[in-house]
Amino acid sequence: MGLLPDAPLILGDGHLMEYYSVDASGYSVKPRGVALPRSVGDVADVVRWAAQNRTPVTARGAGTGLAGGALGDGIILDTSRMDRVRYLDGVVSAGPGARLGAVARLLSGYGRILGPNPSVGPYCSVGGMVATNASGSLSLGYGSIIDNLESVTLVDGRGDVVELPSNRHYSDIISGICRRAGPFPDTTKNSCGYRLDAVPSPDMSHRVVAASEGTLGVVVGARLRTHPAPRRRALAVMRYADARSAAADCPRILECGPVSLEVVGPGIMEGYGGSCVLFAEFHDSVPERGGPDHADRVCGDVRRAAGVRPVMIREGIDRWLAGRNAALSRSLGMTGDRAPSIIEDATVPLERLPDLFDVIRELGERTGSTPVYYGHAGSGNIHVRTPADSRVTEWYLCEVMALGGTITGEHGDGMGRTGFVRRQYGEQNHMLFGLLKDAFDPHHILNPGKILPA
Ligand SMILES: Cc1cc2nc3c(=O)[nH]c(=O)nc-3n(C[C@H](O)[C@H](O)[C@H](O)COP(=O)(O)OP(=O)(O)OC[C@H]3O[C@@H](n4cnc5c(N)ncnc54)[C@H](O)[C@@H]3O)c2cc1C
Repeated sequence: MGLLPDAPLILGDGHLMEYYSVDASGYSVKPRGVALPRSVGDVADVVRWAAQNRTPVTARGAGTGLAGGALGDGIILDTSRMDRVRYLDGVVSAGPGARLGAVARLLSGYGRILGPNPSVGPYCSVGGMVATNASGSLSLGYGSIIDNLESVTLVDGRGDVVELPSNRHYSDIISGICRRAGPFPDTTKNSCGYRLDAVPSPDMSHRVVAASEGTLGVVVGARLRTHPAPRRRALAVMRYADARSAAADCPRILECGPVSLEVVGPGIMEGYGGSCVLFAEFHDSVPERGGPDHADRVCGDVRRAAGVRPVMIREGIDRWLAGRNAALSRSLGMTGDRAPSIIEDATVPLERLPDLFDVIRELGERTGSTPVYYGHAGSGNIHVRTPADSRVTEWYLCEVMALGGTITGEHGDGMGRTGFVRRQYGEQNHMLFGLLKDAFDPHHILNPGKILPA
């Protein structure tokens, strides 16, 4: 027996329930039981039992989610043991519990990478990444999970195994619902609600599972497109006096084709004091994006137009990026913030990014604090940390919506943001979300209270 107990379903064990009562979000909910399936059949058995007994089931990968999505008061279904990974013809097939680190190790042997790269690094699981529509710094060049998902297998709320997009029955239902969808935010990333906007035809029906947070089914397998690993990389590091001028420069930098354009706010990076820092990364493996030689063009353009003096890095890039990736833990240290934050993942159309930074400045005035921020500037996705009561939270999220943005670009609705989903999408889309939920999970046992109210 390893660290986890052997029994497939454990009810009421004190320490184990404590362990599963938290994730990386700061919320806490004690479950009634924990299931540790080894196979798709085990998952189907647990869900069927839960459906008969009207008991909630919440799937869990690595528990690195920042929105409390993996917490619930019923059965927590920990997929850690379903961790097989295979690679064939540019596509990686993974069990839900496979960790990103294991996927990356396998792919490196083939000279390939997975595009989405959450800054939490190797720890998160494929199931969790699919369920949150995870992305990361490289999503600018390679897309989020939703852009890389080839097919997905899930166990629905009846305990049936469903493969998408090949399942005609479900694909027709999904596509029929998606055809009726109203407007969605015009952002490059979005993990709020169900992504009805991403399914133009039945053969794309699997994409609606991305960002569904375990509310439509338990993901038991996913096939994800991979990309050639870069042989040459370059990183331009640019220092700005303030966030607004950094944001105003982003469109110019994007024209040079970086695969990643990240921002780290004042005080987070050692040695950068009160400056706002942009990192633009270039890969030779994406020639249509220009490659590392374009890094020099960025430096020249930025120097001429903004008077900024970029530093060009060609060796030891990962060491520099580790500084960026430590932003969440460093920012938690700066704010002393252990409370759940639901304002932390706003994403706006790129042209509205300077306005979002104005909103963040006003957030500081309203809270009497200095908000700490960092994130994926090239995608308009800024993680902001500051203590905020419910009134300020509501104000901030409404400002994000008014900018044409989404309240979550990559972390999902979870416990914190579900209450704002209807406001973001309006009645028509919200009604369609309900129809989709009913089709997959007629007894509403799958992760209730996430995306839709319980
Ligand atoms: C330091 C830090 C940095 C981070 N940086 C990023 C980042 O750059 N980009 C990013 O996108 N995220 C980031 N995250 C958030 C988190 O890592 C991602 O959301 C990740 O995809 C969650 O994976 P997980 O396995 O931990 O999922 P969990 O936390 O276990 O679950 C997350 C959600 O997925 C559902 N779920 C899990 N497994 C399944 C399954 N098999 N079937 C159906 N539903 C399932 C859960 O019910 C829950 O709703 C960061 C987190 C931390 C702590």
